[in-house]
Amino acid sequence: MSVPYFDLSRAHESLRPAFDKVWHELIETGQFIGGHHVDRFEEAWAKYCGVKHCVGLSSGTAALQLGLEALDVGLGDEVILPANTFIATAAAIVAVGATPVFVDVDPATLLVTAAGVEAAITNLTKAVIVVHLFGNVVDMDGISSVARAAGLAVIEDAAQAHGATWRDRPVGSLGDVGCFSFYPAKNLGAFGDAGAMVTDRADLAEKVRSISNHGRSRQSAHEHLHVGGNHRLDGLQAAVLSIKLSSLDAWNQERRQIFRTYRTMASMLPVTLVDNPVAAASNVQHLAVIRTKYRDRVMAYLKDRNIGVGIHYPTPCHCQPAFARWNRSSLPVVEQAAREILSLPIYPGLQAEPLAFVCDAVSSAVMAEFHAA
Ligand SMILES: *Cc1c(COP(=O)(O)O)cnc(C)c1O
Repeated sequence: MSVPYFDLSRAHESLRPAFDKVWHELIETGQFIGGHHVDRFEEAWAKYCGVKHCVGLSSGTAALQLGLEALDVGLGDEVILPANTFIATAAAIVAVGATPVFVDVDPATLLVTAAGVEAAITNLTKAVIVVHLFGNVVDMDGISSVARAAGLAVIEDAAQAHGATWRDRPVGSLGDVGCFSFYPAKNLGAFGDAGAMVTDRADLAEKVRSISNHGRSRQSAHEHLHVGGNHRLDGLQAAVLSIKLSSLDAWNQERRQIFRTYRTMASMLPVTLVDNPVAAASNVQHLAVIRTKYRDRVMAYLKDRNIGVGIHYPTPCHCQPAFARWNRSSLPVVEQAAREILSLPIYPGLQAEPLAFVCDAVSSAVMAEFHAA
């Protein structure tokens, strides 16, 4: 048996006629950029997230960068973020000329905390980016009250948490702007790169839309209000996303079911499953991450048995060469976790038999190392 780390072929099967239909329609109409598929998806995604506005974009990275820009975050401003995120969260801050301030995270959930953010606030702090890492929802009560008290803008990096909620409110709607990636491997993924920014604020939506389309004014394609760029969502990706959105909740349920199996497995082993069992949070299990001090050997064992695994992420952002200038202090929780984390296969369509195969292999590998130690 072999178990790929990620494979959507089974999940996509029943949607193939719908994909074929829009593909043929697009060839007929030629609405490759913009058009009704983009309008329709933006409307549907705003509704799903419980917000007034959605701007479709070319990537999650663009959503973060343009969201910061719309909030007037720039040169001289500090932005607080957890150090254990995908590099794009940090790169977006530098791209707008601001300074990333990396903070440590909660040792159990590996999520950024209100106390961690509060301790990093200076008189230069303008915003905080919270990351709902692995599909686990950050404590937004704490973050919101700290941000409100200090007058900070809150940006949610929800690239790993489509459909997750905090006190029944969807992620993306809990701060000033919510940023989503629809990279194919995310909980809601396109057939290429895509992203979106959601917000309740009309001014921010309008500015992000303009910057994403060369800074154009709404009235004229030849009047440029901002120095923008090309960060638009294209029609094919929007059409695919609209089709797949109808399956998102069911797919997240499947992820939760798979995660429960991993929870049972972990409860019987000297490993920890990174989890966020908080009543206020409804998590969406983007990744299934275990922690073990035998990580490298367990990983080699699984690879030998043709089981796909990943590490998210082996080097924390503040330890990356490109970010050395902003590495102010060691962040022990993030650094320790980076040595121990291992991401196991989890995706809609992963069947019980391969899942059991993965659990057995993890158990054998961990127990062999445990007894050898
Ligand atoms: C995927 C991801 C991004 C970047 O999204 P892209 O669409 O690949 O640009 C940003 N932040 C996090 C946490 C992600 O997982």
